[in-house]
This record gives sequence, structure tokens and C-alpha cells, in this order.
Amino acid sequence: MYKVFWCKVNKYYLNKWLAYFEQNNQDVSKDLIIATCVVTDRAKNKRLKEVRQALEKNQKVYITWCGVFEKWEKMSDEQFYSIYPELSEFKNEIELLGEEPGRIDTREVATHEFKKTNLYTKKFVMIQNGCDTHCTFCLTILKRGKNRSRTLEDIIMEINEFVAGGGKEIVLTGINLAAWWSESTRKPEQSKFSDLLESIIKYTSVPRIRISSLGPEFLDEKFFELMKNQRFLPHFHFSIQSFSDKVLKLMNRNYDAALLDSVLTRIRNLERPDKELISIGADIITGFPGETAEEFEKTVEGVRKYVITKLHAFPFSAHEKWESVPAAKLPEQIPFSDRKKRNAELMLVGDHVRNEFLLKNKWKKHIVLVEWKQRGKIHAWTENYIQVELDGEYKKGDLVEVML
Ligand code: SF4
Repeated sequence: MYKVFWCKVNKYYLNKWLAYFEQNNQDVSKDLIIATCVVTDRAKNKRLKEVRQALEKNQKVYITWCGVFEKWEKMSDEQFYSIYPELSEFKNEIELLGEEPGRIDTREVATHEFKKTNLYTKKFVMIQNGCDTHCTFCLTILKRGKNRSRTLEDIIMEINEFVAGGGKEIVLTGINLAAWWSESTRKPEQSKFSDLLESIIKYTSVPRIRISSLGPEFLDEKFFELMKNQRFLPHFHFSIQSFSDKVLKLMNRNYDAALLDSVLTRIRNLERPDKELISIGADIITGFPGETAEEFEKTVEGVRKYVITKLHAFPFSAHEKWESVPAAKLPEQIPFSDRKKRNAELMLVGDHVRNEFLLKNKWKKHIVLVEWKQRGKIHAWTENYIQVELDGEYKKGDLVEVML
């Protein structure tokens, strides 16, 4: 059994570990493999609860990813149990796993070296890992280590292998994926992300390409030109965090509201031959230290103005539990109850924007990818990231035309 918390990079590596166990005839079906996340205290608590429940059921537990990492390396048991002393009585039932099986030297072992069916209908393709941006609210950076990119050849080979096996949709992912092939994520001008996208179009025939969380500071002219190609699905998710210059500065983000305006306006006005209504997603933190009511209003206005149709918003986490972040020491901390109130207010605005978007998609034709079946219902996603339920005899991986 496995549990994945949060990001698509976790899903990518989970695939590798399960392939590895299978390849080594290691039956982990009765154990729990838990992909952990430290993005907020809430994520840490949820994970710990899952681990405890499994241990109380005498399950063997494999714990991996951000909860057991330090600068890309697996923590020692001593280090791990000094952070989570409440788990030390279960030492014999817990095994900490590194980022991926069989890493030789520093070269990452590509998935195609482990022969196993893919856990998911679509393929998560990790292109970049780590980060050097040092946002003041981020713990991930302490876990994932320095920015590094997979080679073009490895990525293309992995995609072509997936297509050869009948795969139809890939999701490009990473910790700061649009920084691909740059020396540092603080130097966006060095990124070769749009060159990679151009190569994927040229050297693979995968029909549906999704791009997960984008840093707005990395997107150049070629990127916007390429996004007119229908193989790139019209859903663009941005790691925005705030629309206020003051707050972005306090977060040590690598862009300002003017850059956000230019990028989001260009995406909103993209002219695509498929005339699909473009969906824009955003990660937002509410109640960041120093965020006044006026600054918060700028973020509310941003969600409306740029029509953010898929909003991931959560209240600032000061990481009071276990490991912490620089922003926890900033002045003008906002009480948690007020952070939550702002988050609820913003989510209401986000729901309203999304409902309008869904209405505009009514009576429109879409091609959906059948991803999974549950209780007799088939679940699928449109190109512009609307989830639909289908009746009928379809199998996972089918592309089906539907009218919403
Ligand atoms: S860009 Fe910022 S939030 Fe994202 S991983 Fe890097 S340091 Fe963390």
C-alpha cells in the first residue's frame, strides 16, 4: 500500500521505488510506503498520523522524500528520530528510503531502467530537481538540495518509451521545473526550458503534454509561441504565492507584480487553433507576515483579474513543529485565525471564478483522458483540467470525446 503526499515529483519517485521492489521480487503489498511532504505543519501532521496508524496495525513502514531528507541525502536514523522522537519506539518497523533506488554516483537512474507498468495512466516525467531560490517560507529547499536537471536525451527516451507502450499524456514536473538546464534558479535568463519543450514536440509523438507548476520568471518569447501548439494542454499552473510586491519581496520571490501581469495577460490572450478556454491555476499563500489588509486585497483582485480557475491557497505555515523556516522569524506575524479567515475568503472568490469558467465550458466538446474507475464511475480530465465522470465501457488510457 502506498500514500503520496502533495507533489508530482513524489509520484514520479514512487513509481521508481515500486518498480525497484517488483524488479527485486520484494513483496511490499502488505506494507505502507509513504511519500512525505513538509510544505506545511498540516502536511507534516497528516503524514505522522498515517505512519502511526500503520504501525499500530503492525505494518512495516517505508518513509521517504522530504520528511526524511537533508540536502538531497537521506537522514541518518539518529537525525530522523531526534526530529521525530515520538516514532523512536517503532524503529524496527520503520525503514527510511533515499530519493530513489539504485542511484549510481550522482547520475539518476532513469525509470526505463526499471521495467514496470506505470502506476498512473498519465506519466509524470521529472525534468528538474532541487532549487537555489531560498524563498523565506520554504522548507523544501533544505530537503531537495541544489538545482539540477536531467539530460534532454534521458527525458526524450523516457517519453518515447511511454508512447511506445501506448501512453497518451505526460506531465512535466520538477521542484522548479522551468529552471531546466540553468546553473541556478536565481538566474532565469539561463533557463533552456522552452528549448526542451521544442525538442519534446520535435522528437516525440506524445499527443498530450501537461506542464505542472511554473515559475513565472522563466518564461520567454519562445515559450508563449510554443503554447499555441495544441499538444500542450491549455492548463497552466503557476507558483504565484501573492500579487503584492511588498509580500513577494518578504518571501524573497524572484519576480514582482508587473512580471506576473505581463505573463498572465499573455497566457490569457493566447490564440490557439483549438479555441479551447484556457485554464490558469495558482498556488497562493495567505496571511504571510507583513501582509496588510490592503496587500491581501491585491491578491484577491489578482485572482479575479487574471481569472485564476484552479486555486490552491493555504494559510502561511510558520512551521512551529519540528523543522522551521526563515519567515517564522519575520516581524508582523498574523494570528493563525486571521490567516485562515483570509484563506477562506480567497477560496470563495476562487470558487466563484471557477464556477463561471465551468459555465463557459458548458455545451463545449472536449477530449478527455480516462484515468481511473471507481464505484462504476469513470474519471477523466479535459484538456483544460476539468474533471468529468463518464458512464460506459471505457478503459484507462482511452481518449474520449465528450460534451460537457
Ligand atoms: S522556488 Fe521557492 S518555494 Fe519553490 S522550491 Fe524553490 S525555494 Fe522553495
